[in-house]
Amino acid sequence: MLNDEYSRKFRLASVSLTVPVGRKNALVYRVPDALQTRVRAGVRVIVPVNSRKITGIVESPDVRADTVEGKNLRDILDVIDEVPVFTEDMRNLSEWMSSYYFSPRPAVLRTILPQPARRQSGLVVTLPSRKNRPRKAPAIEKERDSDGGETPSPAPLSRTEADVLAHVTAKKRVAVRSLQRRLPGKGVKEALERLQARALIKVTESFPRPWKVALPGDRSEPPDPASASETVRPRLTEAQQAACDDIRGAFDARRFEVFLLHGVTGSGKTEVYLTAAEYALRHGKSVVFLVPEIALTHQLLAQAQERFGGQVGVLHSAMTEKQRWEEWTRIARQEAVVAVGARSAVFAPVHNLGLIVVDEEHDAAYKQEEGIRYNARDLAVVRGKIAACPVVLGSATPALESYTHARTRQYTALSLPERIAARPLPKVEVIDLRKEFRGADIAPIFSARLKAALSATHRAGKQSVLFLNRRGYVTYVQCRACGEPLSCPHCSVSLTLHRQRRQLCCHYCGYTRRSVRVCPACREPALDGSGIGTEQVEAALTHLLPDARIARLDRDTVRRRGSLAKLLRAWRAHEFDVLIGTQLVAKGHDVPGVTLVGVILADVTLNRPDFRAAERTFQLLTQVAGRAGRGEDLGTVIVQTYAPRHYSIRCAARHDYAGFAAQEQRHRKQLGYPPFTRLINVRFEARDAERVEAAARVFAAALDRLLQSDEFSSAGSRRPLVLGPAPAPIERIKGQVRWQLLVKGPHRQLAHDLIGRARDAFERANPPRGVRLIIDTDPYSVV
Ligand code: ADP
Ligand code: ZN
Repeated sequence: MLNDEYSRKFRLASVSLTVPVGRKNALVYRVPDALQTRVRAGVRVIVPVNSRKITGIVESPDVRADTVEGKNLRDILDVIDEVPVFTEDMRNLSEWMSSYYFSPRPAVLRTILPQPARRQSGLVVTLPSRKNRPRKAPAIEKERDSDGGETPSPAPLSRTEADVLAHVTAKKRVAVRSLQRRLPGKGVKEALERLQARALIKVTESFPRPWKVALPGDRSEPPDPASASETVRPRLTEAQQAACDDIRGAFDARRFEVFLLHGVTGSGKTEVYLTAAEYALRHGKSVVFLVPEIALTHQLLAQAQERFGGQVGVLHSAMTEKQRWEEWTRIARQEAVVAVGARSAVFAPVHNLGLIVVDEEHDAAYKQEEGIRYNARDLAVVRGKIAACPVVLGSATPALESYTHARTRQYTALSLPERIAARPLPKVEVIDLRKEFRGADIAPIFSARLKAALSATHRAGKQSVLFLNRRGYVTYVQCRACGEPLSCPHCSVSLTLHRQRRQLCCHYCGYTRRSVRVCPACREPALDGSGIGTEQVEAALTHLLPDARIARLDRDTVRRRGSLAKLLRAWRAHEFDVLIGTQLVAKGHDVPGVTLVGVILADVTLNRPDFRAAERTFQLLTQVAGRAGRGEDLGTVIVQTYAPRHYSIRCAARHDYAGFAAQEQRHRKQLGYPPFTRLINVRFEARDAERVEAAARVFAAALDRLLQSDEFSSAGSRRPLVLGPAPAPIERIKGQVRWQLLVKGPHRQLAHDLIGRARDAFERANPPRGVRLIIDTDPYSVV
């Protein structure tokens, strides 16, 4: 510990780092005299770490010396920003994330802040301007041998010099550190010196640029609603009005309150969001508006832009980094006060937050499945709590967690029970495929009923949607002679045949190979496929309705940026009669001409080995059914399944969310799944199976010891339960062998403490090296 005297002599500040340094979250530095007034909470600074200079964010500008370990603290080198870029709210949120998701703070900051905000200072290599460069490109050393040993002038480049130059030419600007990483042990430093001496490159020190932001409260005037186009607002229905009043109540009282806005598709939820947002803006506050995927919700974005004009800032991953950064700074400067975006927009740098809206709150897209595995919906609730503002979660099929919270009054339930203008919900028919299959020698794709309905709809000049949550032609190819299935060499999954592309593909790692006729194992031409995908449905439909215009919408057909929007535009303009697709067709595009929705095989989702399978099935069926009958005509939905009596299918057919939720809650309670327990999935990944297993066993042993200790063994029914270690259901993905330990905690905090302490014990126990430890708090899926 440092003593008092030290603190009288120096002011100390703690700084969170934006790059990982061991397991440190923050380091303490001295504030030199020259920087006294500039070192404030939330500004970025440059600090020394070993021999490096790193960008950090001032966490606390005045730390008491007697709380600090160590001696000989180093000085903050420089201050980048004049005003804080990271508000107190965001500092609190990042602290919460760090603890809840078991992640060091630098990793959290990397998740929250876009790359340009975390730019490091350091040496960078660029090309000199054209006129300062030698005219003739220099030769490379080994070419000399080929023309007879004569040394051409000027002197040729060594391999390393040539490599360095190639990198810089390709990238225009490369950090010296990244060159050293790319070309390890090759004398990069010397090469750089020689290249610079010959004016082939330029090495300069770069300093992160200050980020110009407005201070909270700088926005002197509330935005002028007239600056947005004067769209006609519909008269709210009674239910909409009641919902808006409740939200307004919380807003006026500056109260954190979570509202679950539950209403079927077409019940007018969007109008509630927009009205509430308008109210917040009128009172000088900002709004964060989350949608699951921008491309699919562009109607909603368009509506927000129509109403709020240039005040809308958009953030999503399909934008280039530059575009994202421009929008980000526009929001930070408070030029844009409505931040609309996908998952990561929950970190939008708005000041004066007054409302957060999460549309389709149940959507899996809110869950980040790489790096820090956060759920943006849950973070929205935490951020709302920190900012003391209302949070509105909206859905036609709320996540069971949210619904349960509303039932137990942690959230306030708001409901829009009817479709606007009392348009009836479509009629859903369930077709038992077991009966259809009887007597047929192959499973039919279309039942007799669906065939008739497709033909009739086409004849009537209306549009149909066909839904199957699996792309490709067949999803399982096996040799009938030797029994060998065609599997991915990197993953423990079977390959899907894509007939049009003549490829076999792995849907987990993207591995592809040319499709084959003979079995690669036994050379017999006996390959046979099963498991239909969207491509096969398309082929069958072409046969059934030869003159229909058919489009397919899945990840295969909308790879390129913008192609999804184009296809949907054509669909809306009735340039196609039938749209076949995966869950992409289930999301909210409103097309009045659609009167028939066919679900080819509801079992695809239902049979996944995952605790959310029934919920996903109910949600998808409800969503896709909502595509029918959005116009004047009544819609029909035909659901084909081998499990017609399953409650998720029966309840979806009756539009009975409450009935479904009651059954599902019973199951989850019985099996100890969320929302009745907290799940934490601890996963171990590496190429080497033995190491993975060994690491999982070390962690399991640590858990075991802790569970035997007094603290946990006396917890009774609140004691966490550990399942595993065992190989994950998909044992290998992308060449990585995966094991997992699933922890179920009836008591949230206790489970959390257990994992935190087991992790520390695991790291102290020298686990096998090179095994990635992934702790997934509240996993969406445990496959
Ligand atoms: P949801 O978001 O619940 O699916 P929407 O907000 O898209 O539903 O509303 C469905 C349709 O009803 C939209 O075309 C919308 O413009 C319209 N609408 C919403 N509220 C009203 C209202 N109060 N009066 C008339 N039309 C409305
Ligand atoms: Zn694979």
